Amino acid sequence: MDIKTLCIHGTTGNLDPTGAVSVPIYQSATFAHPGVGASTGYDYTRVQNPTREQLEKTVAALENGLEALAFSSGMSAIACLMELFGPGDHIVASDDLYGGSVRYFNAISQKNGLSLDFVDTSDTAAVEACLKPETKAVFIETPTNPMMQVTDIAAVARLIRSRDILLIVDNTFLTPYFQRPLELGADIVVHSGTKYLGGHNDTLAGFLVTGRAELCEKLRFINKTVGSCLAPFDSWLILRGIKTLAVRMERQQENALQLAQWLRGHKKVTAVHYVGLPEHPGYQVSVRQSTGFGAMISFETTDEETAKGVLERVRVIRYAESLGGVESLITYPILQTHADIPEAQRDAKGIGNRLLRLSVGLEALDDLKADLDNALGG
Ligand SMILES: *Cc1c(COP(=O)(O)O)cnc(C)c1O
Repeated sequence: MDIKTLCIHGTTGNLDPTGAVSVPIYQSATFAHPGVGASTGYDYTRVQNPTREQLEKTVAALENGLEALAFSSGMSAIACLMELFGPGDHIVASDDLYGGSVRYFNAISQKNGLSLDFVDTSDTAAVEACLKPETKAVFIETPTNPMMQVTDIAAVARLIRSRDILLIVDNTFLTPYFQRPLELGADIVVHSGTKYLGGHNDTLAGFLVTGRAELCEKLRFINKTVGSCLAPFDSWLILRGIKTLAVRMERQQENALQLAQWLRGHKKVTAVHYVGLPEHPGYQVSVRQSTGFGAMISFETTDEETAKGVLERVRVIRYAESLGGVESLITYPILQTHADIPEAQRDAKGIGNRLLRLSVGLEALDDLKADLDNALGG
């Protein structure tokens, strides 16, 4: 089935006995048993709930996985994921990750006895150089946040195939509509469903998706034990968001490409990082492994005052953290998403005081251009 249809109907369609076209919100914490030792298939909502189950099946189908698990946020998905590992285990991670993931790894995973190496995973040889006998996983984002580095997923998968190392890909930026890491050899896909999957800046959610039965089982056990599951109403909101994922991704990407090209010619802009520009270093790999470039842009202004002025002067675009929704949002990574990254690490990646990150929404292109032009000071 085409992914556009899967977004709307999931794999099985909605089989509610009433014929309700929208999946009902089963707002029940618990489910009565039909007899001793018998179950309707639902016992307690921390373990499973019909609305959440429909969402999980839909996300699993979109990623071409066996199962998906829905969490109360992207970070709670990552926290559950990291419970697969224990003291002494070593993880190799991209050196340009979402700031919250870096905070989790440095503050929580290290305290729990894990060691981490952050490396430019777009350089497969650099990943190989970091591998140790105790390495248990490689954790990548592609494209990265905010510098838009692209990692060759299949190349990293080939590198670690013969060793007992999991390849984990945070697929938040491109979504399964543009990129399906499991098909490229990844073992687990991570999502912040708060972003494009939900798509409306109104709900927090997270996902883990895998194609391997033993990983599904382990993750389900951790999830039911820890209890960071997604609520029925929030599950319904994300299901509703996913129905329009295909059209949103197409249109937001179109807006982003046009804006990136326009920004490149703007006199107050010195650099534009957008994977869909042919001069972007990750362009060729993207064309090979993804069917689109997404709608995230970062760009550098001539000076710090201009960058700060943009944040103060935008009107259509909102100055807010987060991304992936129908509303265009602009952020200042150095003060927001990446404030907790050590300064030396930020500088090494080029995350300075002239860098802005733009999540391009669904507004009319001309309004976005006029807004940015005014905010950049003409
Ligand atoms: C937002 C984000 C997260 C964290 O997700 P939350 O839903 O905010 O907890 C993880 N990874 C990426 C790439 C993100 O953009």
